[in-house]
Amino acid sequence: MAAASEAAVAGPQFVVGPGEMRRELLAARAAGRRIGFVPTMGALHAGHVSLIDRAAAECDDVAVSVFVNPTQFGPEEDFARYPRNLEADLARLAGHGVRWVFAPSVEAVYPQAHATRIVVAGPALGFEGDLRPGHFTGVATVVCWLFQAVPAHAAYFGAKDWQQTRVVSRMVADLGLPVEVIVCPTEREPDGLALSSRNTYLSPADRQRAVALSQALAEAAGLWLTGAEITPIESAMRATMESAGIGVDYAAVVDSESLGPVTTGAAVALVAGRLGTTRLIDNRLLPPRGAISR
Ligand code: AMP
Repeated sequence: MAAASEAAVAGPQFVVGPGEMRRELLAARAAGRRIGFVPTMGALHAGHVSLIDRAAAECDDVAVSVFVNPTQFGPEEDFARYPRNLEADLARLAGHGVRWVFAPSVEAVYPQAHATRIVVAGPALGFEGDLRPGHFTGVATVVCWLFQAVPAHAAYFGAKDWQQTRVVSRMVADLGLPVEVIVCPTEREPDGLALSSRNTYLSPADRQRAVALSQALAEAAGLWLTGAEITPIESAMRATMESAGIGVDYAAVVDSESLGPVTTGAAVALVAGRLGTTRLIDNRLLPPRGAISR
């Protein structure tokens, strides 16, 4: 790696224009620096920071984008109330070696005549793809746009949004985008709840109940290791969530790459549930264990 970035000392450079962002990145690349990119919607927490720290450890310079992407929210979803606090985000980033914070406007990402969408099938079908129609089209479209504005060597995503990592990886492979997708582990609260910007919506009672999501996943992992079949594992996850008063959207064990039926590869347990007006998702990877029966 090249010498440590001045950002470690001076703090990040704040960039709004995609043209300026791209020029900055290309100049750094031309100077031989390896660039890591962490796309976010802001409301930064320790999960985001873990991606940034990983990028900083593996790259010479790090770019972080903060953009609440309207096209990945459905009409009834929380776009309007999604937490936005750029000042707090910048304070959160301090000392983590970020060189650029890129915060484009909605008009820059989606100019008036905007008419292009990236539609991914395969891993975008089912689960979040079914429950949030258009969500992954919004994600793929904005991530593809961000990869043009921020032409980094590597982009860091959280395993927390497992299906999203499969969708982005599929898009990158299918379109031949010149970026390496790196998936980082999920950061959790001490009781197991996955960190999420949406946890701030939870009432104290719902916050306590929310731990049942990670408990259901731990239960799935335990059963998986004993050789249990998939259907009873899924039922056990559902029962654990329901007994905590969570409205279950899904509780499933699927192939971790295709998100289709488990064959002989690694599997993933996926859960999504509703607590009051808050919807949370979580997942846990399960090791391959040979031929599986349902
Ligand atoms: P978001 O701001 O929710 O779009 O998330 C930005 C990135 O941070 C995505 O790649 C997420 O998967 C990742 N992320 C969110 N929560 C966590 C977490 N608890 N641990 C690790 N990464 C996370």
